[in-house]
Amino acid sequence: MPARLVIQAGIEDRMGELLPTTYFHIVFTLPQELRSLCMGNRKRMFGLLFKSAQHTLLTLAKDDRYIGAVPGIVSILHTNGQDLNFHPHVHNIVSGGGISKDGK
Ligand SMILES: [Zn+2]
Repeated sequence: MPARLVIQAGIEDRMGELLPTTYFHIVFTLPQELRSLCMGNRKRMFGLLFKSAQHTLLTLAKDDRYIGAVPGIVSILHTNGQDLNFHPHVHNIVSGGGISKDGK
C-alpha cells in the first residue's frame, strides 16, 4: 500500500477518538524581549512557554463565560519561524468542548 494511503487509513482510524465538537488552532509566541534568555536555558524557557500556554488555555476554558469545561489540548513547539529566524512558539489544537465540572 502506498505511504499516502497508509497515512490516510491511520487518520481515519483515529477519527473515532475525536470529541464531537469544533477545534481551534491557538498559537502562543515567546516575546522578542525574552528570547535571549533561551541561550543556555532552552529546556527551562520552552517548558515555561508550554506551561504558560496550558495555564492560560485551561483557566479561560474552565470559565463559564467560555466553555465551562476542561478541553482537550495537543501542543507542539516550533523554535523557528518560516524565515528560519529564532522565533519560539507553541501551536495548540484545542477542543471547543470538554469535560464539565460534573464530569459530563
Ligand atoms: Zn509554527
